[in-house]
Amino acid sequence: MCTLVWFKRDLRIFDHPALHHAVGLGRPLACVYVVEPGLWAQSDASERQWDFVRDCLQSLNAALQGRLIVRCGEIIDVMERLRGELGVTTLVSHEETGNRWTYLRDQRVAAWAKGQGVDWREIPGSGVVRRLDTRDRWAKQRDCFMRQPQVDAPSFEPVEAPSHPLSSAAQLGLIPDGLQERQPGGRDQALSLLGSFLTERGRTYRKDMSTPLQGATACSRLSPHLAFGTLSVREAVHATAERQREVRDTRDGWSGSMKSFQSRLAWRDHFIQKLEDEPELEYRCLHPAYEGLRGTDSALQTAWEKGETGVPFVDACMRSLIATGWLNFRMRSMLMAFASYHLWLDWRSTGPHLARMFTDYEPGIHWSQTQMQSNTTGINTPRIYNPIKQGGDQDRDGIFTRRWLPELADVPLMYLQTPWEWDGAGSLTYPTRVVDVSEAAKTARAKIFGLRGSAGFRSEAERVVEKHASRKDRGRRFVRDPLPKTAEDDRQLKFDL
Ligand SMILES: Cc1cc2nc3c(=O)[nH]c(=O)nc-3n(C[C@H](O)[C@H](O)[C@H](O)COP(=O)(O)OP(=O)(O)OC[C@H]3O[C@@H](n4cnc5c(N)ncnc54)[C@H](O)[C@@H]3O)c2cc1C
Repeated sequence: MCTLVWFKRDLRIFDHPALHHAVGLGRPLACVYVVEPGLWAQSDASERQWDFVRDCLQSLNAALQGRLIVRCGEIIDVMERLRGELGVTTLVSHEETGNRWTYLRDQRVAAWAKGQGVDWREIPGSGVVRRLDTRDRWAKQRDCFMRQPQVDAPSFEPVEAPSHPLSSAAQLGLIPDGLQERQPGGRDQALSLLGSFLTERGRTYRKDMSTPLQGATACSRLSPHLAFGTLSVREAVHATAERQREVRDTRDGWSGSMKSFQSRLAWRDHFIQKLEDEPELEYRCLHPAYEGLRGTDSALQTAWEKGETGVPFVDACMRSLIATGWLNFRMRSMLMAFASYHLWLDWRSTGPHLARMFTDYEPGIHWSQTQMQSNTTGINTPRIYNPIKQGGDQDRDGIFTRRWLPELADVPLMYLQTPWEWDGAGSLTYPTRVVDVSEAAKTARAKIFGLRGSAGFRSEAERVVEKHASRKDRGRRFVRDPLPKTAEDDRQLKFDL
């Protein structure tokens, strides 16, 4: 009789409730990670994500005394083979809130386990609540999970079994995607980032998080580690709470920044909970009135994907994302909003490109945010970012824009975000803008607000509020989600047409 721990997006052994549970069963215990070619063939998967995961698996293997069993193949074949080899009677994993592919895969695993008499136990590992009956009690349940002590790394000797070498990205059919500055994965990297953020980098977090240049160091950069589980959210929450106690009475920026960071960790669970409660939001508009509203246009989409729309700040952000795999929240929102409003493209055709470009792709946050920034939830205030204004506000000296758009090196700063207005524009090799920014925004706004008065719109919006909105927002007609907690958060979230 053997217990098998199946690692998925939880690549650590510290504060790992599922592993702790499995060790507590007191039987021989084996640990497996399954490289699933089907998963890596999905439109949201990319080379950069796999390379990050590879680092994390090497680090996990070291933590498991070199006994992580890596197998590659279709999940049921792998599970059935391991059952035969090791005599697996219990399968333990964390509760994963993944994409549609993993959701359906888990249903197949559940059917297989039932058929073979294998007891599959899925153990919660974050503030996301499975089979939540009502959002009314969610915040309390999350806080309760976060207040519990972290679980120590268990001491045990994993069962040995043959392990496959880790596939290369090319073996999984993943093509090089333009990444130049790769963020390394692994537990040591996660702890080092958490430490440097809480003691050195995070002081100006609140002030600098929205600027593309300073944001790259003032933000924690923990997102891929949280997404693939080299760090648990509870570890981050506890370490931040401790830091908050230390800096409580300071006035140098630390106190406010730590508070803002703590709220973002809560937003994380809040957004993932939406996908957990309604998996269809990955492929269906949350509010049905928005179905069929937008279309596709391959020329516009290609220009947006390559950073060649002719709108400098949009292109600089996209090219930076392609090269680094990361972008701050404000710039992600702007890229998405530009695609959805100015280019009027359907979020289902643009969302996968961003998912692939994000090393930290997390389906629950990604699809909820993609819909929110495209205004297909029916409950959020539309945020139609003006990329010209954003460029001026967030990149005052033009350093970021020039870094990613060398074609604009000679354009004077006052025309950097609007090169078409510059006398010398004719000599530029930079693309002509694909839309007139203010005209496109005006048209989009009229279409979006026009829909809001349609029959049945309100009642469906109420359903979405009931199921998904933060309870602080209740009673408001159209809500921002989540509601800013402080005036500073409010300023940061303010949309500006
Ligand atoms: C269209 C769009 C798609 C996004 N897709 C993803 C995604 O696939 N994966 C992902 O991790 N984040 C996503 N985000 C949220 C956010 O932009 C990133 O979490 C953040 O930029 C990551 O950098 P960081 O770890 O330095 O963040 P920090 O600001 O240091 O925040 C710490 C952590 O809090 C969480 N967090 C921060 N902001 C948000 C937010 N607005 N909503 C939910 N959780 C948040 C993340 O886990 C993040 O790692 C998306 C945002 C938008 C607008």
